Amino acid sequence: MNKAATGIGAKAQIDFPCLEDGCDGIVKFNLSDVSSRNFQAVCPKCHKTYQLDGALRDKLGRMLELILAIRNSEDILGDSNVSVNVAGGEVKIPYALLLTRLNTLITLSVGDRKVDFHLWIEPSSPDTFR
Ligand SMILES: [Zn+2]
Repeated sequence: MNKAATGIGAKAQIDFPCLEDGCDGIVKFNLSDVSSRNFQAVCPKCHKTYQLDGALRDKLGRMLELILAIRNSEDILGDSNVSVNVAGGEVKIPYALLLTRLNTLITLSVGDRKVDFHLWIEPSSPDTFR
């Protein structure tokens, strides 16, 4: 595990539905573990193992970097808003709300299948985003 990944601990988790036919297991792993070359994810139900190829590990690795960048900017983002124009005015949505309340879903190709990866991120401190 590299140094940057250590800092994020267990805070960034990814899960995706098992690809095995008839299995409804949810495969979970820590994003920070993905950088390891021999990384494997295991379905808790059918015990199918998933080895992510280089391209996929690269994408997930860059996603981790993005998360770390966001983490580094928490104090700035905590004061920032996204402005959305609506009929009759403007609504300001704090970035913090976007980061904590919305679940992030990314769809990546695994072999010939499209898989929805569900990403869970927690702020480094429960006080950061209120
Ligand atoms: Zn399974």
